[in-house]
Amino acid sequence: MRLPVLRLKGSPYEIGYRHGQFARDRIERNLEVYFRRFKNETALTRDEALRRAEKYLQVIRRGSPSYARAMEGVALGSKTKLLEITALNVRYELMYSQFAKIGLKPMLRIDGCTAFGAMPEVTVNRHLLMAQNWDWIPQVEGLFLKIRPTTGPNVLCFTEAGVVGGKIGLNSEGVGLAINGLISNKDDWERLRKPFHVRCSEILGSKTLSQAISRITRGERSCSANFLIGQQTKLGAGKIVDVESAPEATGAFSPQEGILAHTNHFQNPERLGVKQVLDEERRSTLHRFARITQLLRQMRSGNRKMSMTRAEDMLRDHDGKPESVCRHENNSFPADQRYRTVVSVVMDLYTGQLQTTLGSPCERQYQTLRL
Ligand SMILES: [Zn+2]
Repeated sequence: MRLPVLRLKGSPYEIGYRHGQFARDRIERNLEVYFRRFKNETALTRDEALRRAEKYLQVIRRGSPSYARAMEGVALGSKTKLLEITALNVRYELMYSQFAKIGLKPMLRIDGCTAFGAMPEVTVNRHLLMAQNWDWIPQVEGLFLKIRPTTGPNVLCFTEAGVVGGKIGLNSEGVGLAINGLISNKDDWERLRKPFHVRCSEILGSKTLSQAISRITRGERSCSANFLIGQQTKLGAGKIVDVESAPEATGAFSPQEGILAHTNHFQNPERLGVKQVLDEERRSTLHRFARITQLLRQMRSGNRKMSMTRAEDMLRDHDGKPESVCRHENNSFPADQRYRTVVSVVMDLYTGQLQTTLGSPCERQYQTLRL
């Protein structure tokens, strides 16, 4: 299977325009999927979603004008309305907080993911490695972007078609990003803060780890999310930090014995002044966290080191299937809530190499993309 890879260069508008032009069909399908989900999953009508998107468009234009220009490019290139593209780009904000408002059970509705990082001292070649399975609904259309912007580092990332900012990826300054959806009782779209996808894009545009971290921690956030960020600029040296973010507070974790993992629950919600929101479905996060931690510890206690291949094997793990690290649809849930691993990624921050599969990594070979 050939991976959908877009090579984009130029100004934010030009990058957006080509993204829209080349991914028009995929963007159309994502709009269909998400507007249906807004309605079915969270009782958010099309009109209301667009009304909220309009408010966020103002937020983005004010705080992140180049992101707004890129969205304008995507809209024009794909012959789609700007507010629809905006709704796609702020889907986290629109959906995450809706359940609290209408008293729905939050059985949902956030990306389930398993992510981990390995410091150079515990890898075979002293490169910093980061890995992630992104679990979500299989109908969503993904894209890989190779971006050569007029200013700032080059970026290689995975995104959803129509979403400007990649959410898993790396850049030419050795910065890498993996993410996990989180839900807290304080998430609320009405906070109207800088959206999640805009922050991801800014992290991938960062030259240093501290700059990347400040993209998360500055000001408040509308909704919660977890960011696993690393940087390597020199062989054998590097840094990884995990930043849990809630609307009003953030907390950071460092690697233990060279490794760090995260799934879809707060490690320390009290410290961030929020309540954990976990229902039956979302409890898979607890299992996935325990399992990936076990696999990483087994590797360390056996004095073995991390490699791209070993990371790929861990991402193929089926303990607890279907709610496993390599996640498969659970047929006891309604069709729209059967999440599975949609993309699997292993990144080498030193070489800028990204190994990936679209779909379950247990069913296909990883393919190589380079920055
Ligand atoms: Zn599998």
